[in-house]
Amino acid sequence: MHVASCNESEIGGSYPLHIGVDLDNTVLDATSSYLFYYNKASGKSFVSEDVQDFYLYRLYGWDQTEREKVYHTYGHDIHWHSRPFPMAVEVLRELFIHHEISIITARPSLFRDVTVKWLDYHGITYHRIVFTENKRHECISSNVDVLIDDAPHYAAEFAHHNMPVILFDQPYNSSVNTKLVNRAANWLDVKRILSELDSAIR
Ligand SMILES: [Mg+2]
Repeated sequence: MHVASCNESEIGGSYPLHIGVDLDNTVLDATSSYLFYYNKASGKSFVSEDVQDFYLYRLYGWDQTEREKVYHTYGHDIHWHSRPFPMAVEVLRELFIHHEISIITARPSLFRDVTVKWLDYHGITYHRIVFTENKRHECISSNVDVLIDDAPHYAAEFAHHNMPVILFDQPYNSSVNTKLVNRAANWLDVKRILSELDSAIR
């Protein structure tokens, strides 16, 4: 991590931050898209206010196997029809100019094609994309300086290991509360926090 290698000569320098960016419920509204297709599959009619659990499928009373079946049937459509959050595209395009952007998603690589097409369709700029559930390992091995994510378990894990993380506000992550976790309510917050981190670690 650059934090460890920071020295005098880098102050005021222009080397980029390596920023890890999650997709679902960080760059885009996955909840609405999941609800639409999971409601369709189940005949239920849950709305976003019902979602208080990171593992949204549990709302439907499904176990992992049932969830897998539905996800494999509707996953392509769920991902294709998700909408970017306000300012996500604009801020990422700006960050791309000065920094290195790695998309780090826990989606299975089965959905790689639709994911890459979606990013392209929405004009999202990035340098690389990785499909992995082990985000901490990925961030360490690729020298990622900071991860932006909505998942409470990643935020807790990163904070525990003293690794910078920006947690994108979602109802199910409000209980994560440590000084090491920077909370962002929107993409303008993300931009502000990144510029603060940027000057803090140079
Ligand atoms: Mg996510």
